[in-house]
Amino acid sequence: MAPLPGSGLAKGLAVTLRTMTRKSVTAQYPDTQPDLPPRTRGVIGLFEENCTVCMLCARECPDWCIYIDSHKETVPAATPGGRERSRNVLDRFAIDFSLCMYCGICIEVCPFDALFWSPEFEYAETDIRDLTHERDKLREWMWTVPAPPALDPGAEEPKELAAARKTADKLAAARAEPQEEES
Ligand code: SF4
Ligand code: SF4
Repeated sequence: MAPLPGSGLAKGLAVTLRTMTRKSVTAQYPDTQPDLPPRTRGVIGLFEENCTVCMLCARECPDWCIYIDSHKETVPAATPGGRERSRNVLDRFAIDFSLCMYCGICIEVCPFDALFWSPEFEYAETDIRDLTHERDKLREWMWTVPAPPALDPGAEEPKELAAARKTADKLAAARAEPQEEES
């Protein structure tokens, strides 16, 4: 049967009326900030104290957009007659976010927990060169990284906590010893 004349128009108007009465879902950014999930991939933060300059992140980055420079330093032997050691010292750590594709591989492969996702995303620039964030800027992003989620109740305690507690106990015992001797 042929449709009644004007039925298409009526259907269209019905849809318009229905959607007009619905609550709008459009957020008026930047007046309203989006409520982002904690695991949002916004920008990468560097916790450089944990970085050993192993270069794994730079080697695995598919876009080759991590730039690391370092030099070696000799650390004197800890005990008399011991061996000197050498360690890497970080000179430059930068990420070019104009090339980064936010795959997260660098964060996944870092064996020392030195890279983290931050949900911050407001770092657009008018000059593309400013999208290369040097270590100071990457460090600033660290303060915007959300705390890790709490462990499941009943989960096994991470071995790092036990090791930290053991070290703290040893230090406390070493500090208490001279006081006991004095008294
Ligand atoms: S997120 Fe991916 S593309 Fe970006 S720096 Fe890390 S490894 Fe490279
Ligand atoms: S993988 Fe981690 S420890 Fe190694 S250079 Fe990259 S950030 Fe530093």
